[in-house]
Amino acid sequence: MAYQIICPECGQEGLDPRRSQTDCSACHKTFVLTPHCPQCDAELERVQACGAVDFFCNHCNNLVSKRAARYDIRPA
Ligand SMILES: [Zn+2]
Ligand SMILES: [Zn+2]
Repeated sequence: MAYQIICPECGQEGLDPRRSQTDCSACHKTFVLTPHCPQCDAELERVQACGAVDFFCNHCNNLVSKRAARYDIRPA
């Protein structure tokens, strides 16, 4: 099961962090997800690594996992 983020609308884990725009699997509301670095707060780039999508911080020059990233979640 892929890692999912808690939806601010319904409180369920329904948002897929691999996409920048995603529908909640529970309430079907659409959100725009912007991942930020937990260290320096810079916006992260999505990178494809070994088939999985992870994030990369250009400022720290570091790979950031989906679980470690901080997300800015806005309604689309
Ligand atoms: Zn929801
Ligand atoms: Zn950083």
